[in-house]
Amino acid sequence: MTDFDFDLITIGAGSGGVRASRIAASHGAKVAVIEEDRPGGTCVLRGCVPKKLLVYGAAFSADLEDAIGFGWEDVDPNSDRSPDQVHDWAHDWGKLIATKNTELDRLAGIYTSLLDNAGVTLIEGRGRITGPNTVAVNGKTYSAEKILIAVGGWPSLPDIPGLKDNAITSNEALNLSHRPDQVLVFGSGYIAVEFAGIFNGFGAETHLVYRADLPLRGFDQDIRDGFAEAASARGINLHKGVTIASVEAAGDQKKVKLSNGEVMLVDVVMAATGRAPMTDDLGLDMAGVKTNEKGAIVVDADSRTNVPSIYAIGDVTDRINLTPVAIAGGHAFADTFFGQHPRRPDHSNVASAVFSMPPIGSVGITEDDAKAKNLDVKIFATSFRAMKNTISGRQEKTVMKLIVDAESDVVLGAHMLGPDAPEIIQGIAIAIKAGATKADFDATIGIHPTAAEEFVTMRTPKSGR
Ligand code: NDP
Repeated sequence: MTDFDFDLITIGAGSGGVRASRIAASHGAKVAVIEEDRPGGTCVLRGCVPKKLLVYGAAFSADLEDAIGFGWEDVDPNSDRSPDQVHDWAHDWGKLIATKNTELDRLAGIYTSLLDNAGVTLIEGRGRITGPNTVAVNGKTYSAEKILIAVGGWPSLPDIPGLKDNAITSNEALNLSHRPDQVLVFGSGYIAVEFAGIFNGFGAETHLVYRADLPLRGFDQDIRDGFAEAASARGINLHKGVTIASVEAAGDQKKVKLSNGEVMLVDVVMAATGRAPMTDDLGLDMAGVKTNEKGAIVVDADSRTNVPSIYAIGDVTDRINLTPVAIAGGHAFADTFFGQHPRRPDHSNVASAVFSMPPIGSVGITEDDAKAKNLDVKIFATSFRAMKNTISGRQEKTVMKLIVDAESDVVLGAHMLGPDAPEIIQGIAIAIKAGATKADFDATIGIHPTAAEEFVTMRTPKSGR
């Protein structure tokens, strides 16, 4: 027995904090988790889950357009629409937001029961570290042998006149009372392109404003090119190479001045310009916990901060800001320090997806990464119209790419833009994680007819030896 109130206090009941707390408790630790909102965190309450539900909803408009090519038509005798306007369905935005919120209530309930069933004490309120082993919440101080910080991140907006007062972020975009008619999305990272796809899919006039030449910095060039082409063909207005100079309210709308002098009037400006670790007022200075220049908590491979009793996982550490990475970090932390099973999360070849329209899946290095590292690689790439699009008439291209080490034949990266890319890349990621060679891919017999089979039938390198 120790003199502490708890063996572990976790601050933040998001995906990583809940996993760490539950697993530590299952190893016999006495655990409390402090949370100011409902359990669930960014992913469940303000990120991945509600976003993907809206993506599913928005995708129906393109599906309805595609259905026409397959002979579907509107036969409602009371409709004055012509048969080729079958896609002109009405959408009840309020109903979607309400049903999405019901689903979030269910998931938050599941997270609460998971903690409860694991014997973890949930303390509601905002936790503030007051020393190496103490956390204050609601005026009461609790002590613990170990403290785990899992508070995540929060949208971060650049200092542009009027932006903070007049722009929403992804937090609010998920709960708008009605679908705006014109939306300007600022930025072109994961969040920006996903929400541009959502608004565009639901019929809003959508503008994507970004400072680079192409959206999605860091992704493979061919994927970025293909995405820009497809997004534009789907009706998203791309404003490349510009930023916002200022935003001001103009009645119910927002007047946006762009850096190229253009002025736009829109209903909603959404800033998706990155996220920052949520370390404000957490008491890190009181305990002497070190942060980096971005405010992220600095940790070692065991998620330990410079203060031996304090640990941190997930987005607050700004390593790879993805839910499954936070969960893996939380699980490894609990096994290492409470389960007599020391292990470290492996951050190599972590696959990720962008739920844009069309979606993207990616694992391993890009062609540009290979160039930057001076690697001798072979590039296999293909671009084709998926079978469904031949009859639907949609011109959109699916893009696939493999980066292969020329010497060892090991596949170092796989990238895809097109329907089901996230589902397909999840499978490919296992092969890459297992060290598969291009010869292993070639020896795999494809599933026909699928788009995925192209990953095992690309034979001629586009470049390289
Ligand atoms: P990202 O870092 O991915 O993108 C930020 C965007 O904002 C970039 O386009 C960047 O431009 C732009 N930007 C930043 N500062 C400025 C500025 N001062 N002026 C103009 N433009 C600016 O952030 P997100 O907010 O999209 O997402 C945050 C993180 O959340 C992601 O990195 C990801 O880890 C995670 N996430 C993952 C998802 C998934 O897995 N599907 C979904 C959503 C989020 P530039 O490229 O030129 O720097």
